[in-house]
Amino acid sequence: MRFATLTRQPDDPLLRIIGQHAADPRPDKIDLGVGVFRDEAGHTPVMTAVKAAEARLLAEQSSKSYLGPEGDIGFVRALAGLVIGDTVAAERIVGLQTPGGTGALRLAAEVLAQSGARVTVYDAMPSAGRKFLMAGRGGLNLTHSEDFARLAQRYGAANAALRPMLEAFTPSDLIAWAQGLGQATFVGSSGRVFPTALKASPLLRAWLARLEGQGVALRTRAEWRGWDKDGALVFQTLEGSETVRPRATILALGGASWAKLGSDGAWAPLLEARGAAVAPFAAANSGLDVAWSGVFKDRFAGEPLKNIGLRLGEAAARGDAMIAGYGLEGGAVYALGAAPRAAIAATGWPIVLATNGTVREARGFTSST
Ligand SMILES: Cc1cc2nc3c(=O)[nH]c(=O)nc-3n(C[C@H](O)[C@H](O)[C@H](O)COP(=O)(O)OP(=O)(O)OC[C@H]3O[C@@H](n4cnc5c(N)ncnc54)[C@H](O)[C@@H]3O)c2cc1C
Repeated sequence: MRFATLTRQPDDPLLRIIGQHAADPRPDKIDLGVGVFRDEAGHTPVMTAVKAAEARLLAEQSSKSYLGPEGDIGFVRALAGLVIGDTVAAERIVGLQTPGGTGALRLAAEVLAQSGARVTVYDAMPSAGRKFLMAGRGGLNLTHSEDFARLAQRYGAANAALRPMLEAFTPSDLIAWAQGLGQATFVGSSGRVFPTALKASPLLRAWLARLEGQGVALRTRAEWRGWDKDGALVFQTLEGSETVRPRATILALGGASWAKLGSDGAWAPLLEARGAAVAPFAAANSGLDVAWSGVFKDRFAGEPLKNIGLRLGEAAARGDAMIAGYGLEGGAVYALGAAPRAAIAATGWPIVLATNGTVREARGFTSST
């Protein structure tokens, strides 16, 4: 129950001053509470224009029917256009009319602000989503259009643990999320889903803008270094060390590849020291190290392999790959998932690549993501 967390609001400072003024017995007191004009006699005269408007209203009004709690809706809508203009979508604007001087709107806004969770995102880097932007370089494969059960199976041993999360946020939800941020998507020939823009920057920009609109604060150059002895989170910022005591903490610190983009895995020992079980980092989406001959490398490095089929035990994949100086990388290799890593870990033996009758050994991995 969100409202259960609310504490009593302090008295409205303006009303407090008015009360203090009324209670003050000194004859030479000055009322600094309400900003209204008073003449020498202490009266607040009604302006001639207001008198004229009131007379016209009196003559023209056709009903004494009462207003709803929101006030005069026509007036509120007209005012919303005047104050906010078209900077916010009309359906996100709610207007309320309250008697002047009560501070009711401000108090209502404060209650609303307190009733939701206040969220601050801390990131060690100077800007958010740097690795996400890097992922966009390859077109940003968002998800796969294949049948949900088959997609869930691709998570292998992690399937059971991840299944509830996948069901709570399905590939269709992911596509709807991207589209809600103004990014149309399409299904490529491999069945994978990409934003039409084939990059991450417009999606990230719209996402950050939405979060800002929802009141989420972003603190960059704030590196989380663990907890102090009292259990507060410790951040290293440009201004020095800072401690924070949030009611809830979500750690989403990435893996341990592309450290220059922020994902350095330095969090692992911090959690281990607190007794959390941490699985050792292992390459996931990886290129295969292949000992190409010098001649082959000189001739073919950088060449794409279009619509090839790869098979390793039970795992099979079809798609494009790229011959790299060090070996083989690209969508078809990544689509084999964890199979190559598992095969090498299990047998210690190299994988054999058979390409047009030429047999090569792929011995290791070059982590790419
Ligand atoms: C070349 C390339 C291509 C890719 N292509 C795709 C693709 O097409 N589709 C796809 O789904 N994925 C792709 N990926 C993978 C994708 O980028 C990652 O899976 C994704 O970024 C992981 O997101 P994350 O939020 O878990 O971690 P990250 O994106 O790594 O974010 C972790 C954040 O935590 C911050 N951080 C870490 N430690 C601390 C600390 N101690 N204090 C404060 N902040 C900290 C980092 O600065 C970073 O901003 C690709 C990756 C690469 C490198």
